Amino acid sequence: MNVYDSARMSDVLRPLGYQPVDLPDAADMIILNTCHIRDKAAEKVFSELGRLRLIKEARKAEGQQTIIAVAGCVAQAEGQEILTRAPYVDIVLGPQTYHRLPEMVARAARAGGAVIDTDFPAEQKFDFLPEAAAPQTKGNYTSFLTIQEGCDKFCSFCVVPYTRGAESSRPVTSVLAEARRMAESGVQDITLLGQNVNAYHGEGPDGTVWGLAQLAYELAKIPGLSRIRYSTSHPRDMDDALINAHRDLPELMPFLHLPVQSGSDRILAAMNRGHTADQYRDIVLKLRAVRPDLALSSDFIVGHPGETDEDFEATMQLVRDVKFALAYSFKYSQRPGTPAAGAPLQVPEDVKDARLQALQALLRQQQDEFNATLVGKTIPVLFTGEGRKPGQIVGRSPWLQPIHVQGPHSLIGQTFSVKVTERLTNSLSGELVEETEYA
Ligand code: SAH
Ligand code: SF4
Repeated sequence: MNVYDSARMSDVLRPLGYQPVDLPDAADMIILNTCHIRDKAAEKVFSELGRLRLIKEARKAEGQQTIIAVAGCVAQAEGQEILTRAPYVDIVLGPQTYHRLPEMVARAARAGGAVIDTDFPAEQKFDFLPEAAAPQTKGNYTSFLTIQEGCDKFCSFCVVPYTRGAESSRPVTSVLAEARRMAESGVQDITLLGQNVNAYHGEGPDGTVWGLAQLAYELAKIPGLSRIRYSTSHPRDMDDALINAHRDLPELMPFLHLPVQSGSDRILAAMNRGHTADQYRDIVLKLRAVRPDLALSSDFIVGHPGETDEDFEATMQLVRDVKFALAYSFKYSQRPGTPAAGAPLQVPEDVKDARLQALQALLRQQQDEFNATLVGKTIPVLFTGEGRKPGQIVGRSPWLQPIHVQGPHSLIGQTFSVKVTERLTNSLSGELVEETEYA
């Protein structure tokens, strides 16, 4: 979502005359768009700011002004603290106020004092962003599109409800208009984004509330949009309508990121996830019944307060049962202001380390096994650019793996049948079956 937000921030700044430069030394303005989800991500901001300070000072010595802005969730959570620790920062803005950037830039340039805007404004930023631009998508065949933001679920460990704010969905017409603009500029593979994307409940053109399934059927009608994905979804919002959309819509890609976090019912309850491990297993069964080629990815947290060896073993068992094509796993990180941060029974660091290693070894093995099932198969590949080696082009499989093929440049931007010949660690290689477009 930060990638999407960063592109929108450059859209907002373009009318002011700003354009991208390759190196921060050449920039009149530098925005750090930040993540607060784990401690490490937040700490990186301050070390990066230290580097930017040197750039700002060197430019100042040459008579050039540099505006430094900190955007995103660290800005939202830390606010004034950023200016205390890094007084050379000019603008601190939260994820919900970046449509106001032009005004903030003007104020910072004029007054020379720092500007903080971490409101959760009543207006939706999407209504104030430039319509026509979206050049983030030009020459790109894949794109993100934010349709929902924020979260009301308050999992014990998570800062999102505090930094991104309450759950809210963009109206259907606004989403469809942006998707059409993207498709017209050549985007074919679109990923709908939201912290809880399948909790989407946007106002429809007919005045009723639309869920994600209804939106997906409508998006699938847009000419040129041949691949639709969404991330991140929550098991609690995986309703039958959405499961059936996977049955009905070939455009919905057979790859779903559905985080489970833990396989222990005790820990799932402590996390306030609102479902059990078996309920998760059931959802997976239902999805696979309607879309047998559906592969799953997930997020896991090891070492949530109170997690015992037995709880961790339940997570390992769930992984063995479900089999994931891809997964992200993290050591529990104490986030200020969240309920779990102050909970007793924090798990020692060395125990977290050992659990993470064991889990990642199993997940890596499953990823390899999944990729191995594709070797020898013919799959549709959307070519998106040149490969690193001469004569090579690279594309994206339905399951998101990059795949390298020897082929002409002219195929870029189109989908062709490719026979997978080899699996590498994080990618595949293959050969063109024939030079006819994939139907
Ligand atoms: N809304 C999504 C997750 C968004 S946060 C969901 O509910 O599944 C992305 C991922 O970061 C989470 O799935 C979780 O695995 C991880 N994460 C969030 N807070 C964390 C914390 N305090 N410590 C470690 N990992 C965390
Ligand atoms: Fe965070 Fe996801 Fe839980 Fe919301 S549902 S609190 S975003 S982990």
